[in-house]
Amino acid sequence: MRKPRLMTPGPAMVPEDVLLELARPVIHHRSAEAKQVITEVTQSLKTVFQTKNDVLILTASGTGAMEAAAVNAVPQGGKAIVLSAGYFGARWASVCKALGIQAISLETEWGRPVEPEQVANALKQHPDAVCVMGTLSETSTGTGHPVEAIGKIVAGTKALFAVDGISGVGAMECRTDLWNIDILCVGSQKALMLPPGLAFVAVSPKAWAQIDTFDSHSFYFNLKTARKKAKEFDTPFTPAHTLILALRAALKRIEEEGIENVWNRHKTMSDACQAGVQALGLELFSSRPAEGLTAFIVPEGVSESKLRGSLTSRFGIATVGGQDKLKGKIVRIGHMGYTDELDVIGTLAALEMTLAEMGFEVEPGRAVTAAQQVLMGAKHSLAAV
Ligand SMILES: *Cc1c(COP(=O)(O)O)cnc(C)c1O
Repeated sequence: MRKPRLMTPGPAMVPEDVLLELARPVIHHRSAEAKQVITEVTQSLKTVFQTKNDVLILTASGTGAMEAAAVNAVPQGGKAIVLSAGYFGARWASVCKALGIQAISLETEWGRPVEPEQVANALKQHPDAVCVMGTLSETSTGTGHPVEAIGKIVAGTKALFAVDGISGVGAMECRTDLWNIDILCVGSQKALMLPPGLAFVAVSPKAWAQIDTFDSHSFYFNLKTARKKAKEFDTPFTPAHTLILALRAALKRIEEEGIENVWNRHKTMSDACQAGVQALGLELFSSRPAEGLTAFIVPEGVSESKLRGSLTSRFGIATVGGQDKLKGKIVRIGHMGYTDELDVIGTLAALEMTLAEMGFEVEPGRAVTAAQQVLMGAKHSLAAV
């Protein structure tokens, strides 16, 4: 079997020490040790999310955090403004629909973010909107949203600001409190370097005030119940606490590197990957690239499935293609979490060889050289993760 190289924007590679945690005997989830671990990770998550707000741990994939945010913040029949700049933005609308929430979707051409002015206008048009739902990193198009600017606008209204930070948090700057994010949603399998199975929400006092005005019609994702238990460093139901033990190891790595250094490393890897791809004459898909992944347009005459298939069979490199209407049109390379500059260089080298062998005119070495130049010029130390 090829050495697996998971260059996908989730799930992403998991460090060896984190994997080892998962090999330990299962402890009891109500034991003192389990409570101690929840205490520690809750504190560390606050640093990673840059928040003093309550952080709750949910046993679910990332979408569970989105559902928890929606069902607790907006009563049935209530209205939400959804930033729909891609597949995951559209998921907010789907979550709302399933919950009987009226979603006002702000659309963009995929590959572009929703602009702050669009949000400001929508809030004026819909003063009864209870929540604005946005995405930090729209993974389907590789696009970052101006969350800070949008947060400023929403903060001036009664509405809450819920942000899907599932592929963004830990890969790009996200200052929950400073940026007025009322409910931050995060998943475990992206830049937090864990397997899938855990989700997190950070809930502001403004959000709690709204949540406390009505009884949410969810049993499992009831954040009031979770808040009560979290006060005792506990969870309402059996959590995936083996993953929480592994989370402690993953967060220790982030703390040792420093969250700002982690963001800088991702920015550098993103710059390097973009430079490499563009040096081959390929076009980036996004007008405002997110930092945990790079999306490029599949050039004419090249089959996306053959290209990605060959990267996997020859080099063990997993990438992803496009979702929904972007199927076959783009390739997305993830560089988040337990990824370093050599993973990016190696992926670019493999991309050059694969494209050349498929008859696409490339000069092997160009992408690698362009990426190396970025890395050598990087101001920030690329300390090993
Ligand atoms: C991966 C991802 C999700 C979905 O998370 P699941 O863990 O599959 O539920 C949602 N939003 C964004 C931006 C993502 O990248």
